[in-house]
Amino acid sequence: MTMAGARRSRRAPSAAGRQARGVSFDEARRVLVGGVNSPVRAFRRVGGEPLMLSRASGAMVTDHRGRRYIDLIMGWGPLPLGHNHPAIVRALRRRITEGVLLGLTHPAEVQLARLIAGAMASIEQVRFTVSGSEACMTAVRLARAWTGRRKILTFEGCYHGHGDALMAGQSAGLPPGLAADTLSAPFNDVEAAQRIVREQGRDIACIVIEPVAANMGVIPPRSGYLAGLRALANEAEALLILDEVVSGFRVGSGGAQGLTGVAADLTVLGKIIGGGMPIGAVGGRTAIMRRLAPEGDVYHGGTFAGHPLTMAAGVAALSALQGASVYERLEQRGARLAEGLAEGARQAGVPVQVNRVGSMLTVFFSTVPVERFAQAKASDAARFARWANGMRAHGVLVPPSPMEALFVSCAHTPAQLDQVIRASRKVMRSLRAAAGEA
Ligand SMILES: *Cc1c(COP(=O)(O)O)cnc(C)c1O
Repeated sequence: MTMAGARRSRRAPSAAGRQARGVSFDEARRVLVGGVNSPVRAFRRVGGEPLMLSRASGAMVTDHRGRRYIDLIMGWGPLPLGHNHPAIVRALRRRITEGVLLGLTHPAEVQLARLIAGAMASIEQVRFTVSGSEACMTAVRLARAWTGRRKILTFEGCYHGHGDALMAGQSAGLPPGLAADTLSAPFNDVEAAQRIVREQGRDIACIVIEPVAANMGVIPPRSGYLAGLRALANEAEALLILDEVVSGFRVGSGGAQGLTGVAADLTVLGKIIGGGMPIGAVGGRTAIMRRLAPEGDVYHGGTFAGHPLTMAAGVAALSALQGASVYERLEQRGARLAEGLAEGARQAGVPVQVNRVGSMLTVFFSTVPVERFAQAKASDAARFARWANGMRAHGVLVPPSPMEALFVSCAHTPAQLDQVIRASRKVMRSLRAAAGEA
């Protein structure tokens, strides 16, 4: 920062705000790769100028030009209580005045770990990380050490962050040969997984899956599917890693494991458990977890792991989520939105499949049910783009990609959801009209 810049922001608290309003996405592109720090924010899948946001509160966000939107991106999942929940804001304020970074274990780490272990039956011990990606990498490393094997079985369309092993085949710059150890099966097809496990089970360290897929749009597991994978893992003596970074504390306080009764050997958490602050976590039974350093020989550490601000926000968030009927409200609001969006599309004669689990949902522009990655990929992306851009013009922010989930929070009022539904009905009608003219 220049001296002049430093002086300006010291003199008037609003100076930073005024400066931020003067920044355009073109300027962002000059100093940030693609104008973003995470690719989906660049709006490549829907076109148009990417939005930049400057404020958020409750269910609303404000862009850098001062325009307001009903938000259904919701930070990509971490905010079931809405933006700036008062209890989380209070906890952060208090923590800031008592030291931002401490450098040794502090009580809130214990509190947050207890809240997690108390809610999820398969977790006795927790290790916090700074991101979900890091937690997934650590879980895989732990599984490889525990089993003494190298292969991992993953599923098409699932996302586990950007660690090398879990990105095999999906990025340049990975070591050649990595792909040989990262096997892939179609989601929701237990026989396909069975075939791979029967052939290569002796080499497989872990089966890693999102129990509710949320990164190819929302795709719920078929009935019995996760139990089938649990049985396969047992048969192969491999670990079952359930990546509940999205579903944990979203679909219920016990995550997808609580809903299905299928227990993971290792659970990966993130997003919600940090109350909006950066976080990830690996949890499991003590026998496995204690292979991590310093008890064991599997290294993981981090300057910011267990960050006091994150822990304070996480404790406040998970405590608030224990409140009466939070998950009922999330379920009701999710259902209202999903039904309204589906009905509006039906009236307009636009074929869609609305997949939903609790408060997360995806509108697939597809004539066939979407239960796998191939079907999600085959949905009409151009139509989705017109819908997303139409919604934006009506003051509703949906994720700028057909492969992401819309997230509803407790802060979304029924009136706001009805506004979203009305906007979608109009946009769906215009899509139908456009198709008729073509
Ligand atoms: C977001 C996500 C991750 C990665 O978490 P980051 O904090 O973004 O690194 C991992 N797994 C799933 C299922 C996710 O949705």
